[in-house]
Amino acid sequence: MLKPGDTIGILGGGQLARMMALAAAPLGLKCHIFAPEGDNPAFDVTAAHTIASYDDEAALKAFAGAVSVVTYEFENVPASTADILSAKVPVLPAPRALAITQDRFTEKSFIRDLGLAVPEFIAVASLAELEAALTRLGRPSVLKTRRLGYDGKGQAMVRDDVSAEIAWSTIGGAPSILEAFVPFEREVSVVAARSSTGEVLAYDVCENRHAHHILAQTILPAAISTQTEQAAKAAARKIAEALDYVGVFAVEFFVAGSGADEALSVNEIAPRVHNSGHWTLGGAVTSQFEQHIRAVAGWPLGSVQRLGRIEMENLIGDDVARWPELLAEPGLSLELYGKREVRAGRKMGHITRVIR
Ligand code: AMP
Repeated sequence: MLKPGDTIGILGGGQLARMMALAAAPLGLKCHIFAPEGDNPAFDVTAAHTIASYDDEAALKAFAGAVSVVTYEFENVPASTADILSAKVPVLPAPRALAITQDRFTEKSFIRDLGLAVPEFIAVASLAELEAALTRLGRPSVLKTRRLGYDGKGQAMVRDDVSAEIAWSTIGGAPSILEAFVPFEREVSVVAARSSTGEVLAYDVCENRHAHHILAQTILPAAISTQTEQAAKAAARKIAEALDYVGVFAVEFFVAGSGADEALSVNEIAPRVHNSGHWTLGGAVTSQFEQHIRAVAGWPLGSVQRLGRIEMENLIGDDVARWPELLAEPGLSLELYGKREVRAGRKMGHITRVIR
């Protein structure tokens, strides 16, 4: 268990690391960021940072020696990085969560083997295998690279007018999965935490709207039945327990059908704080960032009680120019990430309205 004054190491220097570090400070904990050269907004709010690549063994060892625990803000931490660190210092969530979630095939197999619903999927390693998989799943279906996909990157929708050759070249011929298309009504997620003593607390289910494959808006409560809400939380608990997980994570779901036919299937697991949980900053008694810090510090979790109806909006690219008018809206909370450069599609900040 960490004590106030101890230091948490964070891999990655983006907005998630920044908001974790900001949540650690009132608990008397310090953060040390490890990130490669670049625009690292977390550096602005942390006492220490190391600029080095994730394969710099000497830098990783020195970092491990300077912190009491290591956590991360992104799931694509190389396995070798996690191994070097975990030989010297606890890495939480444990590297197994990374190994499983970094590969969509491993991840979907793991979820299915827990008895949870996932869209039908088939591993595809060549054009011939893609053609065979398309015969089985039909069109439309979704081709996704096994590794390094996010915000719709590494993905191709295979509709009637898209040939297997085109889809295969769109994703660069990388090892992939072909997934059945889910005609979903909505996309929802559960953000939850598991403590080092095995306590699991889930925030209320969030409903997520995307624009150009990037999360645009999260609203709560989600327009789903009580049973579906409970089933989503139960699925999150099952996943956390199976991974012996410590920290905050998110599970994204598709919701198909409505009324008595409403059905969930898991899209993916994010082994980290998640954009669909940003509303908890101001919208819940304990933010997801504080919750993650508490969990990796070995401390008790805080209350996940929601404080009202919620609307969270991402400020993407030029949206950030709206900051003066947003600041003038009473009761609205604005979080800017301090990124140096505005680029189209780049998450620059977010706003949350809590309607009590
Ligand atoms: P992902 O990167 O897997 O989270 O997918 C990004 C987005 O693509 C999702 O949020 C959905 O809007 C859409 N999508 C992904 N997989 C499917 C699917 N099997 N059926 C329908 N839409 C999908």
